[in-house]
Amino acid sequence: MTLDPPASGQVAQRWWFDSGSIALDFAYVGGFGDIPESLTSAAELDEWLANRFPGLDAASDRGLIDGKALQAALARLARAASAGESATAEDVDVVNLFAATPDIPPALEGGSRQAGRSRARVGQAFSAMAREAIAVFGPEGAERVRSCAADDCDLIFYDESRSNNRRWCSMQRCGNRAKVRAHRSRA
Ligand SMILES: [Zn+2]
Repeated sequence: MTLDPPASGQVAQRWWFDSGSIALDFAYVGGFGDIPESLTSAAELDEWLANRFPGLDAASDRGLIDGKALQAALARLARAASAGESATAEDVDVVNLFAATPDIPPALEGGSRQAGRSRARVGQAFSAMAREAIAVFGPEGAERVRSCAADDCDLIFYDESRSNNRRWCSMQRCGNRAKVRAHRSRA
């Protein structure tokens, strides 16, 4: 589920951290609760999606509204899961609704013709993220959804490690700072 960092685009660079889940990446764009960043236009949504779902149709204003609804539900689900609380039925319904629509079908390279649409709709990308969210927030995944161990950081990630012992949003941002502090207090 880990994605490569977006190759280009200042906006995407600024927003990206390795959350371990594209659904959490998307939730983070809207902010976890305190809304540090938020998508404000269909063009920004397109830019964000283009780095993760190449070859999508452009988003409409309707797509932006849908995207924000999904994003807000994902952010609240992430908060609830990382706090060990149960999600509201309303947020679960939003995710289930998006997941019930077609996602982006997988395709094998090397065929002779186009199967289905050549460009996927934005809604299909929402469905793909909603389906991933169902795995992440479901019974198997939810215990791996945690917030960063740093006191002053509330980023939430999905721990993909086999040992399930990830503590930091990122080593550079919080892990190293904590190590330096621990080292100083020992010295
Ligand atoms: Zn952190």
